[in-house]
Amino acid sequence: MQNDQDRRAELRPYIEILSFWGESIEDYLFLLDVREEKFYFSSCIWEKYPLPFMDIYFGMEDWISIIDVRDRDKVARSLEEVKSGKIDQVSMEYRMIDRKGVSVWVNCVGKCLSYEDGKASIIVGSISENVVSKKIDQLTGLQNQTVLEKVFQDIFQKGETGCFLMLGIDDFKNVNDKYGRKFGDEQLKKLAEIIDKNLDYDSQLYRLDGDKFGINLVGYSKENAKAFYNRIQTEFSIQTYSTVSAGAITYPIEAGNYHNLYQYAEDALNQSKQQGKNKLSFFSIDDYKGHLFFIDLKEEILESIKNNFEGFYIYYQPVVNNADGMLVKSEALMRWRSKQYGEISPVVFIPILEQTGMILEAGKWILENAMKQCREWREFLPNFRMNINLSYIQLKDKKLMEIVFDALKKADLPGSAIILEVTESIQLQDYSYFNLLFYQLSKKGIQISIDDFGTGYSSLGYLKELRVDEIKIDRCFVKSIQEGGYNAHLVKNMIELAHSVNIRVCVEGVETFEERTTLQKLFPDVIQGYYFGKPETPDNFYEKFVLIAKEGKPIVDDGERKIVSEHNNLLKKNSQNYQNLLDELNEVIYVCDAETYELYYVNKIGKKLTGVYDYTGKKCYEVFQKGKKGKKVCEHCEANGLQQGTFHTKIEKAKDVEFVVKEKLILWDEKPARLEVITDNSSEKW
Ligand code: C2E
Ligand code: CA
Ligand code: CA
Repeated sequence: MQNDQDRRAELRPYIEILSFWGESIEDYLFLLDVREEKFYFSSCIWEKYPLPFMDIYFGMEDWISIIDVRDRDKVARSLEEVKSGKIDQVSMEYRMIDRKGVSVWVNCVGKCLSYEDGKASIIVGSISENVVSKKIDQLTGLQNQTVLEKVFQDIFQKGETGCFLMLGIDDFKNVNDKYGRKFGDEQLKKLAEIIDKNLDYDSQLYRLDGDKFGINLVGYSKENAKAFYNRIQTEFSIQTYSTVSAGAITYPIEAGNYHNLYQYAEDALNQSKQQGKNKLSFFSIDDYKGHLFFIDLKEEILESIKNNFEGFYIYYQPVVNNADGMLVKSEALMRWRSKQYGEISPVVFIPILEQTGMILEAGKWILENAMKQCREWREFLPNFRMNINLSYIQLKDKKLMEIVFDALKKADLPGSAIILEVTESIQLQDYSYFNLLFYQLSKKGIQISIDDFGTGYSSLGYLKELRVDEIKIDRCFVKSIQEGGYNAHLVKNMIELAHSVNIRVCVEGVETFEERTTLQKLFPDVIQGYYFGKPETPDNFYEKFVLIAKEGKPIVDDGERKIVSEHNNLLKKNSQNYQNLLDELNEVIYVCDAETYELYYVNKIGKKLTGVYDYTGKKCYEVFQKGKKGKKVCEHCEANGLQQGTFHTKIEKAKDVEFVVKEKLILWDEKPARLEVITDNSSEKW
């Protein structure tokens, strides 16, 4: 084994060359004696960095001691790899702490000069501060995007895994504007400091544009990245009262390149900001494609509108009377066809119109055109009306009334011909604003309908507060509705509630004969849905519905469907015509079981007077003597003495009104039942 002096003598020629070159350049040149674990330097590196003595050679430990603790692990590991023969050259960036305690980024490159036993024994190279300065952010002292890009090129090449997090301070622009740039800078530094403190040795923080930071979390899973973000989020808000949002993407990624990774993370960050900030979103390729699609559509719609609404058109869906299936009105539904993607659903393009404000123009367009159409069909059906949807943006537009009134004038239509649909939502709670607006519209006869009733804002109480004329019960309550089932009860309650405050009810999305039959018995006023007709072009609507209505016929002949329906027997018992007839009478008519008093039938006026529309399972005295529970039979009930064939007649008095009550025993579904007919004796009408 050579002694120290011999080894130095052996290395002297190299060291002399090193010193010679070292004098003419700013970089520190070094020779690393791998075998002896010693560094030799070309110039006085100890002048700038706090090495333990003033010399040109140092032990490995001395060397490591001037490296920033955050990067020590990385450097030590690299030295180990050289020693073990795993690598024979180095190229890395790390921070050294100078005599002033400032962390300085350096670029260190070295190559093997000679080998022993196949391992590098001497490495020569340079440590440069200048190369790195272009890659360092002056404010935070962090590496910038240039470095990040290179790091990810390596990562993708090696197929490593981890998570890239992009962080941004929420409302940073406001912070800068309000408190000044200096304050903003302090916030950025604070955030950098907090992140840095939470980083492990493998991971690295980078300063990106503006208020954004990039963090490469090597080997992190989604869950770990989330936990990391949560720590930063909490510490930052405690220390600065500001919040941070983040977007993250785990790598490797498909078609992995830095450009995509950066854009994806930025997209996820934007998503967090859009969703209310102070949160982390992970990138999803589906969301991203949706985002690109959104941008495409937005541009095309704008173009369409500029080109005189090219691609926009209107479909009309019939709305019929519940009792007889006759056409009463239609809903105007906006359509748009994209040149690139074909027909686009309004659930996709309406939100785009709303977000961009273009809904104001499109809304005006549909108001004018739907009214013109209504005017045309009123030539054949004088009472025909049109429902037109309004967006919140339109409702808040000061010019709305002017636009609506102008459109009526242009179409030469009375206000009573149109019903404006407003979606149920929490915003409707601004009663004073909306009631004033609705009142002003109502002065011209225009009616208001609450769309998608039951889906938005859960308290039904506002029905009493708002001046509206109609509610449209959403399809979700109608789907597979069954007699006596949960939804049937719910719909029945909604209908009763609306009726109790004189609001008309439309049930939407009726698709099947079974849904139609169940609903019919819940007595909404009007119904809409594919069962009666899908939204159609104006020409088709005219042929399929207007012409039939003109002939005084219902647009779907329930009678025809009866024959094909599986529900034959149910309908035999409850013939529609028979019910309609009884509903026309001014007498209250009801049938109940002779023994159990369970109500089998109550006609329309009976329901109206008692306010009980669904009497299923109820006893006659519960309905007619309202709420008198525990009481068995009415005192005056003479059901026991009734006979089949002859009416038993008596006079009864309630609140000074005289009634003629006629009763008899009949067979109802082969069971003995009591038929009761009550007439108001004091006047012709109830
Ligand atoms: P909406 O106002 O609730 O319109 C009813 C939607 O239900 C229409 O969808 C209609 O085609 C559909 N529909 C009708 N009957 C049935 C049925 O029996 N079954 C099923 N499954 N669906 C049925 P569409 O035309 O796709 O419109 C969707 C939404 O777009 C509308 O919902 C409305 O919120 C919005 N929209 C459409 N046109 C306009 C407009 O001119 N202005 C505004 N602001 N929104 C509009
Ligand atoms: Ca609607
Ligand atoms: Ca609706």
